[in-house]
Amino acid sequence: MKILLPVILTLIGIVVIINTFATLIGKFQAPSKITKHFSPSPRPTPTSTPRPLTFAEMNALYGPCVFLPTLFYHHIQSPEAAKQNKQTALTIDTDFFRNQMKYLKEKGYHTVSMNDLTSFFDNGIPISSGSILLTFDDAYADFASDAVPILREFGFKATLFVPTGLVNNPGYLTWDTISSLMPGGDILFANHTWSHHNLLAAENVIEKEISTADTQLAEKGLNSPKVFAYPYGLSSAPAETFLTKLGYKLAFTTVPGSTLCKKLRFDLPRVRIGNADLSAYGF
Ligand SMILES: [Zn+2]
Repeated sequence: MKILLPVILTLIGIVVIINTFATLIGKFQAPSKITKHFSPSPRPTPTSTPRPLTFAEMNALYGPCVFLPTLFYHHIQSPEAAKQNKQTALTIDTDFFRNQMKYLKEKGYHTVSMNDLTSFFDNGIPISSGSILLTFDDAYADFASDAVPILREFGFKATLFVPTGLVNNPGYLTWDTISSLMPGGDILFANHTWSHHNLLAAENVIEKEISTADTQLAEKGLNSPKVFAYPYGLSSAPAETFLTKLGYKLAFTTVPGSTLCKKLRFDLPRVRIGNADLSAYGF
């Protein structure tokens, strides 16, 4: 009995607590028939439309900065070839491309190299006004057949971003063709991952993609200085960390813009060029 009494008292206590809760829950139970009240949605606080930062503001935040339009292209081929290959969305008609390069030349624009940009960032060596960078993504076969002869006609330097695992595949450059384009040193063949993988991936994938391409390019004496372009333009913090570790100097996105800043050297903007006169892009 002496042992049972505290047990009984405890049990009574538990029952009382359960009952109290049941009553409380009952009070707050929703009525069986719910009348919905549609209150007007909260009015958004008016905010000013975000405006792009001025050069001076960017320079103060991320500088030193330089105004250096970095044009980017994919396919350069005839409209017939583009249609046949189902690549019209990524193609600039070869004749149109020639007109664009001619226009740049006539307007007094000149190309600089990736070394010039790193020298500006690291040593403050100025880049003259009228400078541009020309970049081509994905190492398509038409880069050699259609783009390079025109670039050389006008004496323009360029960077080709190569997904190294796609080289020698149908529609892409071969390593032999890449070697044949090396003399002259006017084209930098740079890292665009191994399989053109998006780098919002797991860290081990990011590292494998970047380092495999890095090794393959280095074995062939390419990618010096070390420059990178993110597939699909998608940068990521782990990718930036890894690129820094491997000694990369610059990395390009597809974010539109022409102000290139030292503190954003792994998130550089570019200007995507389509089948329109370059005057439409402010040149
Ligand atoms: Zn690409």
